[in-house]
Amino acid sequence: MIDSIDAADPLGLDAAEMRRLGYWVVDRVIAHFEGLANEPAIQTGTPAELRAALGGPPPEKGSDPLRALETLTDVALANMQHGDHPRNFARVPGPSSFAGVLGEWLGTGFNAIAASWAGGSGPATVELVTLDWLRSLLGLPEGTEGVMTSGGSLANLTALVAARAAGGAGVCYLSGETHASIVRGLPALGFAADQVRVIPADGDMRLPVAALTAAIGEDKTAGRRPAFVVANAGTTNTGAVDPLPEIADLCRAEGLWLHVDGAYGASAALCDAGRRVLRGIERADSLVLDPHKWLFQPYDLGCLLVSRPGVLKRAFHMSPDYLADVTAVNEEVDFRDRSLELTRRGRALKLWLSFRIYGVERLSAAIAHGIALAEHAERVIARDGAWEVVTPAQLGIITFAERGADHEAHLAKTAALAEAGYAVVTTTRVRGRSALRFCTINPRTSAHDVSSVLERLGVALEENGP
Ligand SMILES: *Cc1c(COP(=O)(O)O)cnc(C)c1O
Repeated sequence: MIDSIDAADPLGLDAAEMRRLGYWVVDRVIAHFEGLANEPAIQTGTPAELRAALGGPPPEKGSDPLRALETLTDVALANMQHGDHPRNFARVPGPSSFAGVLGEWLGTGFNAIAASWAGGSGPATVELVTLDWLRSLLGLPEGTEGVMTSGGSLANLTALVAARAAGGAGVCYLSGETHASIVRGLPALGFAADQVRVIPADGDMRLPVAALTAAIGEDKTAGRRPAFVVANAGTTNTGAVDPLPEIADLCRAEGLWLHVDGAYGASAALCDAGRRVLRGIERADSLVLDPHKWLFQPYDLGCLLVSRPGVLKRAFHMSPDYLADVTAVNEEVDFRDRSLELTRRGRALKLWLSFRIYGVERLSAAIAHGIALAEHAERVIARDGAWEVVTPAQLGIITFAERGADHEAHLAKTAALAEAGYAVVTTTRVRGRSALRFCTINPRTSAHDVSSVLERLGVALEENGP
């Protein structure tokens, strides 16, 4: 074995071979983007067929790299929901853009790290700059700090850990429409049952300020300590935005930490239509958004902004002896001190590159397009008397139902679409009733795509009044 240490890199490939394989990958990805509209929006394999193609014992010997690449592409990557497909309206799709892909590739190729300033000052600066671009576009105060995470779930929990470290434990208030990641996360963070107050949403699916005020009063009377409010800047189910200015006023009066979950919706602040709906978002103490949703980044990328300087570092600072040589002094930032991650890749490279390549102008237009598509869907649905709008188009989401249809009937319609591969649409429940739901944030989607999916669901495209 020892003699092999003088040999060439056992994992090395020569430059010509790396180019051959690398160009193959580039070509396949571009073919994917070019062919999207004609590919199925979703394909799901059976465990048996996927295992047969991808499984087996650990390969003892290496094999032809092109064959391996083909298998990965044609089997693994074909059997997915395609979040970038123009007729994927399910949940919150991930309509990633090519600029983001390029940034991801470069960072991966160079194995970019952003854990300490000393070990990655370039990627760290890219992250700091990108965070500050987002801060200013969302209107948060200068001095706001942040960190990029794997997604909204982790960003939300990171925010609540930091908020609690800053202000002490207490009761957290949320509406019944709050994302399940927070509902699941609070007990995992050690919140006791009586420290989680879920307030039923009002008829518009928003957090009712009067009920919130009353709950805070009750808790104080009972000797509990109100501490945090989680408000939604776009609920996942219906796109509803909680009354942020009123909630911010209440939080200020009561001395509560205002966390705003804008994982899918906050990016809409980049365009005029979204900014109007999101008024008050700039008053958050902490704010989450997911660039892998409405900022067109490949998975995964979440982002947390905290408007109180020093809070993240006080919550997450670590300084063991073995990191003493890579500990920042002065204004430099060690990103390991801003969340529970130590080793972390340069996550912001792709978003920085997207801003540089597209500019805010094109990103903003792409977001406005998604808002307009849901409004188009609403107009088409409202014209057909056999259908009804359940919640109006809000931040690119609309829910609707066929009059008299039960959940089974709605499910049968979405299953037929998925089976044909034509489109992905999901069912949901709104105030207990079954509904269909579109999330139309993909800039590749046309009004024609929206209309033709509605038509296949049975909505008449011509006027058909009640
Ligand atoms: C998607 C979403 C989350 C969770 O984000 P992940 O990136 O999936 O972890 C949290 N809150 C809201 C409002 C979301 O839409």
